[in-house]
Amino acid sequence: MTERKVRVRFAPSPTGPLHIGGVRTALYNYLFAKQNGGDFILRIEDTDQTRFVEGAENYIVESFKWLGLKFDEGVGIGGDYGPYKQSERKELYKKYAIELVEKGWAYYAFDTAEELDALRKQYESEKKNFQYDCNTRKGLRNSLSLNKQEVDELLAKDVAYVIRFKFPENEDIHLDDLIRGHVKMNSSLLDDKVLYKSDGMPTYHLANIVDDHLMCISHVIRGEEWLPSCPLHVMLYKAFGWEDTMPKFAHLPLLLKPDGNGKLSKRDGDRLGFPVFPLQWTDPKSKEVSSGYRESGYLPEAVINMLALLGWNSGTEQEIFSLDELVETFSIDRISKHGAKFDLEKAKWFNHQYLQKVEDEKLVIDFQKDLKSRDIEIVDESKLIAIVGLVKERCNFVKDFWDNSDYFFVAPETYAEKALKKRWKEGTSERISFIATEIAKIEDNNLWADNAEEFIMKYISDNELNMGQIMNSIRLAVVGDTKGVNMLDILKILGKEEIVSRLNTAAKKIGL
Ligand code: GLU
Repeated sequence: MTERKVRVRFAPSPTGPLHIGGVRTALYNYLFAKQNGGDFILRIEDTDQTRFVEGAENYIVESFKWLGLKFDEGVGIGGDYGPYKQSERKELYKKYAIELVEKGWAYYAFDTAEELDALRKQYESEKKNFQYDCNTRKGLRNSLSLNKQEVDELLAKDVAYVIRFKFPENEDIHLDDLIRGHVKMNSSLLDDKVLYKSDGMPTYHLANIVDDHLMCISHVIRGEEWLPSCPLHVMLYKAFGWEDTMPKFAHLPLLLKPDGNGKLSKRDGDRLGFPVFPLQWTDPKSKEVSSGYRESGYLPEAVINMLALLGWNSGTEQEIFSLDELVETFSIDRISKHGAKFDLEKAKWFNHQYLQKVEDEKLVIDFQKDLKSRDIEIVDESKLIAIVGLVKERCNFVKDFWDNSDYFFVAPETYAEKALKKRWKEGTSERISFIATEIAKIEDNNLWADNAEEFIMKYISDNELNMGQIMNSIRLAVVGDTKGVNMLDILKILGKEEIVSRLNTAAKKIGL
C-alpha cells in the first residue's frame, strides 16, 4: 500500500473569537503538515446555526493572516475538495445519514423536545441521569420501537424527526490515540448521538466525519475536549465502511489557567490581564471588547513560538524557534499528555526575545505612532533609531519604549525624591553648575560628548570626589531619576546645548 498523503485540517466553528488554544491546535496541525510535505486545510464547521456569530469567520481568517500560518486549501483559498464551509455542503449530508439508517446503524427518532425534557426531569427527580441509549431507546418514539408502517406514516406526514446513531450493545470500542495511547470505551455507556437534525442540518459528528472522509484527511489533531466524541467517530467510520482510510487521531492536552486548575478561559485573561485571543474582538451583540495579542503589542512570531512550547518540547534546552525550525523539529511524540499552564511572564519573555530581533528602523515606525499620540514631533529620525537601539533591550513591547526613553524627549521638571536625598548633597549644585560651565566651553563637534566625559572624569579625580556620587547627580539632573541608558549615549543623543541647559536648570532648581 502506498503511503497516504498527509492532509490535516483545522476545523473551527465560527461561534466567537478564536481562543489561543485553538490557535495552538492549528499550529500543531500546520507543523505536522509542513514537516510531512502535506496539506493544511481550513474548514469552517458552521452547522449549528443557533451558535453562529457574525464576524467570527472573518476573524479566524484574519488571525491566521496575522500569525503567518498559511493554509493550502480552505475557506477563502479554494481547493479541489470544496466547498470548505459546511453550510455550503448542507445538501450532501442527508444521504449519508439515510445510508446509515438503511444499514441499521442509525434510526429516526420522533420524540419532541418537550417529551425529552419531561423525561429528563422525571429522571432527575429520581436522582438519575437520562440518556438516549441502548437501554432507553426501546421505550421511546423511534424507528426501532415503532413498526414500519407507523414510521412510514410519520415520515410521509413530515413529522419532525432527528436521525440518531445506534450504538451496538456492549461492544468495546478501541482507539489508538497518537498522544493518549490506547483508549477503550464500552458502547453501552454511550448515548445515541443525533447525527441529523430536524432543521435539515447535520450535527457536528456527522458532518465532521463525512467531510474528513471526503477531504481525504489523514490525521485529526484536535483538542482533548473531543476525545469523548471519538468512540462515536470511530464507530461512524466502521458503520460507513471507511475504516481503511480512517484518519489517525491525536488529542491535544488542554491549555490551563496560570494559577490553579482548569481550562484557560477568557475570564482568566480579564482577571490576570492578558489576552486569550490573537486579535482584539468586539462582540457584535454586547459590544464588549476583548483584548488581542496583536493589539497588546505582541509580535506574531513570539506568539507562535510561545504556543508551540505550551504542550510540546523539543527535548533540548532550545526555546527560541522560528516557524521553519519548528517545522523541522516538531513531533507528535513529544506532545505532553498533561495540560500546559499558561505563563504570562514567559509570554512576555518570548516577545522580548523577538523584539530584539526586529530592526530598529521598523520599530521606529510604531514608536513614532506612540510619540505622536503624546504630541511629540520628532524631526531627526536617525536620533529616534539610535534611541530605540539603546532602550529596546530593556523592553518587552514597543509600548515600553516611552517609559524607558521619555527623558530623551522632555527635560525633567521634577527630580525623583528618593534619589535626590541620596545623591544631591550640600555643594552638589555648585559642582554641577561648574561642570555645566566647563562643558559649555568644549567645542561642539562629533567628539564633544567624549571630551565632556573625559573632563568629568578628570574633575572627579583632581578633586578626589566620589565617582558614583557625581555621575549619579549628573544623571539625576539630565534624566530626573537614576534610571536610563549609558550616560555617554545620553550625552551624545541630547547634544551639548541640551545637556548644559539641563545641568544648569537642576543646579538652580534643586539649590543646595
Ligand atoms: N468544529 C470543531 C471545533 O469547533 C472541530 C473539532 C475537530 O477538529 O474535530 O473545535
